[in-house]
Amino acid sequence: MIRLSMPNLGDEEINAAAKIFRSGFLVHGEECERFENEIAHYLDVKYVVVVSSGTAALHLSLIALGIGKGDAVLVPDFTFPATVNAVELVGAVPVFVDVDPATYNITSANILKAVNTWEGKERISAIIPVHEFGCPADMTGIMAIAAEYDLKVIEDAACALGARHCQKSVGTFGDTGCFSFHPRKSITTGEGGAICTNKKNVAEKLRMLKNHGMSKKQGTTNFVLPGYNYRMTNVQGAIGRIQLRKLPDWIEKRRKLKKTYDLLLNDLDGVTIPKDVEGHTWQTYMIMISEVFDRNHVISVLRERGIESNIGAQSILSQEFYKKYDSLFPGILYSKRLFNQGIALPFCQTYDKKTLTVVGTELIKILRRCH
Ligand SMILES: *Cc1c(COP(=O)(O)O)cnc(C)c1O
Repeated sequence: MIRLSMPNLGDEEINAAAKIFRSGFLVHGEECERFENEIAHYLDVKYVVVVSSGTAALHLSLIALGIGKGDAVLVPDFTFPATVNAVELVGAVPVFVDVDPATYNITSANILKAVNTWEGKERISAIIPVHEFGCPADMTGIMAIAAEYDLKVIEDAACALGARHCQKSVGTFGDTGCFSFHPRKSITTGEGGAICTNKKNVAEKLRMLKNHGMSKKQGTTNFVLPGYNYRMTNVQGAIGRIQLRKLPDWIEKRRKLKKTYDLLLNDLDGVTIPKDVEGHTWQTYMIMISEVFDRNHVISVLRERGIESNIGAQSILSQEFYKKYDSLFPGILYSKRLFNQGIALPFCQTYDKKTLTVVGTELIKILRRCH
């Protein structure tokens, strides 16, 4: 089976983890702090706080920025549900924004449309742009809108560590940027996540919130607010440090490799390939097939031929819990189309041109027959 993607862990990571297991310092420790410093250096940002997952990063960002009951938060409809779950979990309400069918990201025009048609009683006070599949969202446009409407900006860069917009790392434009180290993401620590920010007070709040509300100011330990346990383990920190060193090379490999799919699928009737945006890191390569094809059938035939593919991301409004909001957002169109017609193809820096050619060739055969 050609898997959708494979975590890329080698002896170095295994040995680093073993060393931590033998040391006896398993929970948050020096390796996490070093990992934080190295991520901060890589992103060129002042503070990084590592946490237990990308979801924890989003949840804590909203709390640290004071978003809760009475607030409304702009979110893309096309994303992984964690983006929107975090909004619900703090008692705020989501305001759904449609995405661009070429980049799969929200656009300034769509954000403004959502702001101007919002009729809820909650005040729109934040936005969570997602850098979907490693594609940098238009942070120039988004930051301008945020300034105009006084919005907090929480970047969901779960899939986009290393992606850049105008030569600047995504995650570093907003009040906070959230990353995930789940095995499907660009680097992995098993589970894990990180939050970056340039604001000292936000970083301090995040550190307390992830660690039971503990503050160690003035040499004494105090529990100054009700916090969570969203800590990353020292074992994960040690693994992450090694993964991070490999990331620049992996991003280059992905940028080269994705051209194999582009060449094979570009001129194919009924297939749309993802737009090549400057600074994209290609965590996922998702195509869209036209409505003349039954997408789920194509995925299952690929599977029969030993190729694992998947839907790319969800339309959140199409999910059971969120259907209650669907009638409020009649303009959401492309997100649903991408959810119903998108196919994420096997893609990983360890794959070669030959593997991708096999996948592309099989896909072409299947589409010809299904037409
Ligand atoms: C993976 C992902 C998350 C959640 O990250 P976890 O580490 O799995 O909690 C959030 N948002 C997006 C866009 C993601 O792709």
